[in-house]
Amino acid sequence: MQGIYPWQKETWQLLYQYRSQERMPHAMLLYGEAETGKRLFARLLAESLLCSAGGEYPCGACHSCRLLQAGNHPDLVEVMPEEPGKAIKVDMVRAYIEDATLTPQIAACRVCIISPADAMNLSASNSLLKTLEEPAPENHLLLVSDRPAQLSATIRSRCQKVAFPRPREEESLAWLQQQNSSADWARLLACSNKLPLRALRFAEGGQEETYGKLQKSFAGLLKGQQQPASLAASWCEVDSGQLLEWLYRWTLDLLRHSQAGAAAMQDTDLMRMISGLPRLPDSVKLVSLLSNITNLGQGLGKRNLNYQLQLESLLISYTESGK
Ligand SMILES: [Zn+2]
Repeated sequence: MQGIYPWQKETWQLLYQYRSQERMPHAMLLYGEAETGKRLFARLLAESLLCSAGGEYPCGACHSCRLLQAGNHPDLVEVMPEEPGKAIKVDMVRAYIEDATLTPQIAACRVCIISPADAMNLSASNSLLKTLEEPAPENHLLLVSDRPAQLSATIRSRCQKVAFPRPREEESLAWLQQQNSSADWARLLACSNKLPLRALRFAEGGQEETYGKLQKSFAGLLKGQQQPASLAASWCEVDSGQLLEWLYRWTLDLLRHSQAGAAAMQDTDLMRMISGLPRLPDSVKLVSLLSNITNLGQGLGKRNLNYQLQLESLLISYTESGK
């Protein structure tokens, strides 16, 4: 199969069923965790809808498919922010909305992909709503989102929701093994929040080494060998979102340790590093640390946040507890 990840197979088959029974929804919201391949899925679905051969996958040979390969099919509109993290503005969706009343030029239908749909600002989302209320025939709208709760409730209610499940670990491992049989995928998956595409990116970008170093310094903090202030200064060099995700993961593992013993920990490296430590933060402290990490993560990007100072005070809490 071309382009579909193994963890998307069931979703693909469900949509193929819709297509073959000619009851493809006008608007769909493809949602689920980040980095699971939803956007590629949406693109392949769009190509299959536009292909004139009408098979499960795009044939790659018809006029439509050749235009898609060349990147200029008039019946496909792809809307995304100019840069990641930026908003999708009203003029960007207008291109689709204005054409939405037209008949397709080449294919049997028109397809628009908006990704990430939650990046639409208020006026973009309001003007899209009008199209959703009066859907033009032969038009398909594919909204892709990691954070569907940020979309307006009205938009969500007008779309058929298609959930993308989290890849199962054994499925991820088997797929990663096929990509490169010499990497330590179990470990890479562990530091990439069990997301196979992220694990692959980490393997290519050397993130595993960074993870190992940070983890060691975190264990050093718990052992009293690392000072919170200097640790916060060096951790500031790392991508903050990623760092907080890892810190959350280790803290959650400490919570498992405090509630059910060392054997309950998921990260065996961390377990080894802290084994025999007489004092670790207690459950109550760990639960509050988890919520502090979440709060700090939500505050990222706010102008008045002194990230290094906040990180330092968070790290101090780890050393104060358990006494
Ligand atoms: Zn084709």
